[in-house]
Amino acid sequence: MKTEINNYKSIVGEGCETVAAPSSFVQTSSIVQREHALVSPSSLKRIVSCTRSLKVNEDYLLEHGETSSPAAIEGTKAHAVAENLVNEHFNIPLQNDSVAEAADADFAMKVCGKAYKDFVVRVFQGNGCTKLRTETKVDMTSLISECWGTCDCFMVSESSLIVVDYKYGHALVRAQDNAQLKAYSLGAYLSLPDNERKTIRKVQFYIFQPRATTDYVNGFPRKLDTVGAISHDEMQIEDLIAWAKETNVKVEQAIRNEGQFTAGEHCAFCAGKGTCPATRIREQEETTLTLADLLR
Ligand code: SF4
Repeated sequence: MKTEINNYKSIVGEGCETVAAPSSFVQTSSIVQREHALVSPSSLKRIVSCTRSLKVNEDYLLEHGETSSPAAIEGTKAHAVAENLVNEHFNIPLQNDSVAEAADADFAMKVCGKAYKDFVVRVFQGNGCTKLRTETKVDMTSLISECWGTCDCFMVSESSLIVVDYKYGHALVRAQDNAQLKAYSLGAYLSLPDNERKTIRKVQFYIFQPRATTDYVNGFPRKLDTVGAISHDEMQIEDLIAWAKETNVKVEQAIRNEGQFTAGEHCAFCAGKGTCPATRIREQEETTLTLADLLR
C-alpha cells in the first residue's frame, strides 16, 4: 500500500468555510455566519447532556461575537508549533498561517510540541500506518447534524484509524468515552475513500496532554504542577456508528431547542452558567445549604 501523508489546508486552501445556522434553530436574529460549527465536537458532551444549552450559547455568541480567552490564544499557538513539527517530520509542506502563528512561541510550547511530534511518530510507526493527515477539517454532518471540526492528526493502518488530539491545557482530559474524540474519529473515518473505509474495523483515539495536572477544581487547575498524560480508548466501527445515531437524537432536539436544562460537570464552560434556570436553582440550593449548615 502506498503511503499518503497530507495536511488539509494544503488541499483545500487556508481557513474554514463559513456556514449558515440551520433554519430549524430558534434564533434571535437572522443568519449567523460562523467559523466554528453550531455543534462542535468540543461542545458535543454539553449539548447532549443539556439540550437547551445550544441556544443559550448561540444567543451569547450573537450578543458578544466570537471571543478568544488567553488560554485559547496560547493553545492556538502551541498547536501551530506542534503541527509544524509533525509536518516537518513527514515532509508535509508547512502552512503559512501556522508558521506565522508559531513565530513567537515560548520554550514550553517548543518542548511540548516536540514531545507531541515524537508521540505521533511512535504511534505511526508502531501501528504500521500508511496515511497521515494533520489539521484536517472533518465533517460528521451526515450522521450528526451540524457537527464538523478540525482534527489535529489522524493516521490509517490496514485495519485501524487512529486519531491523536493534542491538548495544551492543564486540566486533565481523558480519552475514555470522550465525545469530542469519538466525533473526530467518526469524521476522519467518513473522510476516507470507500475502499479504505471497507478495511477499517476499529478506531483508536489518543489524547496527548503534556501539561496535564490532576490537581484541579471545577475544570480549573489549582496548582500548575505538571504530570503529563496520554490516554487512549478505542471502539469498533459499528459501535461508533451506533453512538453517532444515538447522539444525533439529542442534537436534533437541541437544534429545535427542546428538552430540559440539565446541570452537571458539563456546565463548566457554558455561557449559561449561573444564569440559566438549572444553575440558578442549583446555586440557590447550595447557598441555602451553606446557610443551614452555619445555623446548625
Ligand atoms: S449552565 Fe445551564 S444551559 Fe449551560 S449546560 Fe449547564 S444547565 Fe445547561
